[in-house]
Amino acid sequence: MSNGAARDSVVRDAVIRTSGLSKTYTQGPQPVDVLRGIDLEVRAGETIAIVGASGSGKSTLLHTLSGLDTPTSGTVFINGQNIALLGETEKGALRNRALGFVYQFHHLLPEFTAQENVAMPLLIRRDAPRAALGAALQALTEVGLGPRANHVPGELSGGERQRAAIARALVTRPQCVLADEPTGNLDRETARAVFEVMLDLQRKAGTSFVVVTHDRELAQRMDRMFELTAGRLGALK
Ligand code: ADP
Ligand code: MG
Repeated sequence: MSNGAARDSVVRDAVIRTSGLSKTYTQGPQPVDVLRGIDLEVRAGETIAIVGASGSGKSTLLHTLSGLDTPTSGTVFINGQNIALLGETEKGALRNRALGFVYQFHHLLPEFTAQENVAMPLLIRRDAPRAALGAALQALTEVGLGPRANHVPGELSGGERQRAAIARALVTRPQCVLADEPTGNLDRETARAVFEVMLDLQRKAGTSFVVVTHDRELAQRMDRMFELTAGRLGALK
């Protein structure tokens, strides 16, 4: 393969790529440089863990990677598209197509069943209800929750709720899931099981995962691991 072809395939394979990503918050009494020139490439089908002290900028990094937050300088490419050049509608459409999100707290709606909650992203984009509910059941089955589809969140354990949140992130079949401390309020064993679900989905569906976690032992299970310190990513694995 020529260098040019190799470079093209690298560009094509990156779901998300950042170049010189920096973020400074200027709201407080003095500016805070949270991100200082981050170059990161999330390739198709790889799992990346990001660890770092509380306040080191992990959530800021995820929000900036996903286009929810705007960098002070630098560029984010999603599927090769510089998102700064897109309008809000186009950017939202690209984000909804390419990315899924999981948060520390599941944000499931209490009055709806697991299946209805997981179907929500499809219903919001006006897919037919029958198809949306079918896809939701499939996604729940993939995270091992098929038998719990008709339960409301209050009837699920903490780990089951996070697995439902992962199913909801996956129901649109994103190329990459961004997860911000998805196991942060779970006990060790449950956290491990939720990580296993993500690794299994990577293997079966080729979904990329970028997971922020406090747990270095679980982080070690991902393909690559970085620590965010003083605004920069250092490779730990
Ligand atoms: P982490 O997720 O690693 O705990 P965050 O990305 O939430 O860190 O925050 C990184 C730093 O940026 C913290 O010092 C936080 O106070 C600051 N910060 C986050 N969001 C804002 C904001 N909207 N305005 C001002 N400062 C912020
Ligand atoms: Mg955070």
